Amino acid sequence: MTQATPADIWTLVIHGGAGAMTRATKSPARELAARTALSKALDAGGRILSGGGSAVDAVQAAVQVLEDDSHFNAGRGSVFTHDGQIELDAAIMDGNGRRAGAVAAIMRSRNPIAAARAVMDHSPHVLLSGTGADAFAVSHDVQQVDPAYFHTDHRWAQLERARELGDGHFDADVKFGTVGAVARDSAGHVAAGTSTGGLTGKRWGRIGDSPLIGAGTYADDRAGAVSATGSGEFYIREGVAHEICSRIRLLREAVQSAADHVQAETLELGGVGGVIVVGADGTPAWSFNTPGMYRAVLRNGQDPVVAVFGDEP
Ligand code: ASP
Repeated sequence: MTQATPADIWTLVIHGGAGAMTRATKSPARELAARTALSKALDAGGRILSGGGSAVDAVQAAVQVLEDDSHFNAGRGSVFTHDGQIELDAAIMDGNGRRAGAVAAIMRSRNPIAAARAVMDHSPHVLLSGTGADAFAVSHDVQQVDPAYFHTDHRWAQLERARELGDGHFDADVKFGTVGAVARDSAGHVAAGTSTGGLTGKRWGRIGDSPLIGAGTYADDRAGAVSATGSGEFYIREGVAHEICSRIRLLREAVQSAADHVQAETLELGGVGGVIVVGADGTPAWSFNTPGMYRAVLRNGQDPVVAVFGDEP
């Protein structure tokens, strides 16, 4: 048998959010729709990686598929702010040179991850916000849409429920539908991307962990790449994505153990959610402290794995 060389190894791991999904509560139709979308996203990113493309391109392609799918809290189907608006956050990071770009509270870019990519590739900055970020996206030909494009009835119903509960209270069956992807390409580079509408009923210009480099998104060729989903305030306070990469790089910890360790520390603070990780050698991992997490992995030469519930491998 021929041994795989490092150059043959590519890996793509994606998520569509962690949360209270169980077999008892999840409607079979929505479960199937989510699994189908995850498979489509794996295909989009996997095609790029199998053709020798870059981890950054694969991450962006996979995230865009999930942003376009209204089942997830990113792009179309994002949650509403307290004021009934949709404000989108996203980040992308290239582990090769640790380049990064991010946007926060944008309202018109169809694919916020594409706006984040434009910030990384075409600006001297890392994070742009609000109307300035939307204007920057326009100037770099990122597709713009009317904000009504993002609206869905089920998210509006969630806002009404959140308003009844009041500020800072999560629905007991909260599902963090943020989407993300991490990849290792056959050239040995890693990348991470995350995109979200944030939390239902957020107000006062609240920004979560997803667009913050080191909190919800991080990539470093010396360690690996991480994308997070969950109660963002705690992921920011823990510096989750960077912390996982630091443990891998400085302690030489295995990716699974680094992910589990940082997830446990975040839970001690009160943070619920999950992470996906890929190591610099292409080893995939995920870790979550919720009943379920939409997640999937594809590696060259292996069958895809798509999972939703906590008891799946
Ligand atoms: N982490 C995201 C935020 O706090 C929410 C999510 O994962 O769905 O904005």
